[in-house]
Amino acid sequence: MLIGVPKEIKNHEYRVGLTPESVAELIQDGHSVLVETQAGSGVGASDEDYIAAGAKIIETAKEIFEKAEMIIKVKEPQAVERAMLRPGQILYTYLHLAPDAPQTEDLIKSGAVCIAYETVTNDDGILPLLRPMSQVAGRLSIQVGAKALQKDGGGRGMLLGGVPGVAPAKVVIIGGGDVGFNAAQMAVGMQADVTILDRSNKRMEELSYHFGNRAKVIRSTPAVLDELLKTADLVIGAVLVPGAAAPKLVTREHLSTMMDGSVLVDVAIDQGGCFETSHATTHADPTYIVDGVVHYCVANMPGAVARTSTYALNAATLNHAKRLARLGWKEALRSDAHLLNGLNVCEGKLTIEAVAEAQGLEW
Ligand code: NAD
Repeated sequence: MLIGVPKEIKNHEYRVGLTPESVAELIQDGHSVLVETQAGSGVGASDEDYIAAGAKIIETAKEIFEKAEMIIKVKEPQAVERAMLRPGQILYTYLHLAPDAPQTEDLIKSGAVCIAYETVTNDDGILPLLRPMSQVAGRLSIQVGAKALQKDGGGRGMLLGGVPGVAPAKVVIIGGGDVGFNAAQMAVGMQADVTILDRSNKRMEELSYHFGNRAKVIRSTPAVLDELLKTADLVIGAVLVPGAAAPKLVTREHLSTMMDGSVLVDVAIDQGGCFETSHATTHADPTYIVDGVVHYCVANMPGAVARTSTYALNAATLNHAKRLARLGWKEALRSDAHLLNGLNVCEGKLTIEAVAEAQGLEW
């Protein structure tokens, strides 16, 4: 199959659909890969790296969209890209269609076969192509939180792990799913005093067995949170209630009970945020202060570590890409119910009920 990788054009998107290593695997399988010039520059992969892997470098996205049978990307196609999609062409990327009616309409019109990373499932009932970004955001949350706790970050001048003779910082992680688990791993590794709150009994058991005495695992209730916030140095918001906006667990009133220079990192900001005083920020200006408490609320955290994120994403997406290339979309989807769950739009038809429901479309 002829596979195309255009350079991402969404504002501040540095990731790329395929790494040179992934290209090499596809070439080894007998496919051909076209890569737009400079597509990998944001992750340190040069045109020469792609050529060495066996790809052909192409000057324009237009030529890639014209020729390729499958387009592999990271972000949802922008309007100019959507206009270039062709009937029967496979588009394999994140789409996030539910809140995006113009994109849905364009993809339906294009006649392309659009497979969204975020709705592909697996046997464990998780979303395996979404998970790597939660892992990245969780780990990064401690890194950015530690920086914000420094004086030059606006914080109270605390070292996360303390030093011999000085107590470590207190880290409270609200939500112990993928983001929270990875945040806890980093915080524990840096020798902070870590507490994880969750509401799922099964999850609390898993976390408790995993971390043992290295982290406290406590049932999340308003009363517990009220107490913990009074002494917390760093709070990570990592809750998710599937299909709903994030609950506002930390309120404006809570801030007055917190220490000056303590830090809130709201990873759940992409679902509206779980702190009442959160509003989305960017990597260029990631923090602001309310009532003496530093807030970090970047909605696309993985973008800051585009190289790690790209490799993490490729590790999750490549196997399905290989099957799509080997079998063609009809057979690849027919023989894999989990990949079929990723199909959002197929040759002029919306194929995912949740999006139809979100947009009030007929189903
Ligand atoms: P997940 O489903 O793996 O985990 C969410 C956890 O929250 C679950 O364990 C659940 O039991 C728990 N929870 C629900 N309500 C709670 C409550 N009231 N108190 C405590 N825990 C509660 O989800 P995830 O992959 O860890 O994602 C968490 C959030 O991070 C989501 O909103 C996701 O969209 C977001 N996210 C943001 C970025 C970013 O760049 N900002 C990147 C990745 C993920």
